[in-house]
Amino acid sequence: MVQRRKPIIAANWKMYKTPDEGKIFAEGFSLDAAIAQEVEVVICPPFTVIPAIGEVLKEKGIKWGAQNLYPAVEGAFTGEISPLMLKDLGCTYVIIGHSERRQIMGETDDFIRKKVIAAFTYDLLPIFCVGETLEQRKANQTEEVCSNQILQGLDGIKSEDIARMVIAYEPVWAIGTGVNASPEDAEKTIAFLRQLISEKWGKEAGEAVRIQYGGSVKPGNIKELMNCANIDGALVGGASLKVDSFYEIVRCAGEEAKKHGV
Ligand code: PEP
Repeated sequence: MVQRRKPIIAANWKMYKTPDEGKIFAEGFSLDAAIAQEVEVVICPPFTVIPAIGEVLKEKGIKWGAQNLYPAVEGAFTGEISPLMLKDLGCTYVIIGHSERRQIMGETDDFIRKKVIAAFTYDLLPIFCVGETLEQRKANQTEEVCSNQILQGLDGIKSEDIARMVIAYEPVWAIGTGVNASPEDAEKTIAFLRQLISEKWGKEAGEAVRIQYGGSVKPGNIKELMNCANIDGALVGGASLKVDSFYEIVRCAGEEAKKHGV
């Protein structure tokens, strides 16, 4: 049996849930030991929810992260949050380069790269998102678009750090639409990205880095996705907001991981 990377299932709660609602979720969500051994689970709530749920998650062996940071330790950056502040809240991960931030807030690859550097500087692990739009997909530009996002957004990052971080391949047309990429298509793109990373940062980093799929992941499609050799888990938006559906995704991912050996 080929040894696989430990899958990581991350919840992106986006701009949903108050601290009280987050607490109800955290109290109602538990991982049994067998699943926790097979799969790493991370919850990325809004900033205001983190202090309300950190302690509850800690007791349950669940990690948490933020959905954004500003690449400076402190200063006159109204409305922003620093990596040090996130570290102080016990975050392990931070989502960087999500397509909603690229598109709605106009974040560029260069700005995203600064955020990745800031994350590593303060010992946060990026969940670095890449993905093509529908137009780019139709024009056969998926690989080119995702390669550019990786090569520019991660330029200058050390191989050891690449090996520890997480990349999420999230086709923009699949996010929040109910239409997921087929496991074959997701696997093909993710295998291509892994190869790209091996070529640029070395085989060891390419084999170690965990690459998730994201885009309309649900209890009904996680199994097939997890069955793909290069897909190391999922970044889950909508289906992570309810305990039952998120638990089912985690449980299925754990079952698949057990079959494949991590
Ligand atoms: C996301 O926001 O990263 C995401 C994948 O959302 P959804 O699962 O709702 O498509």
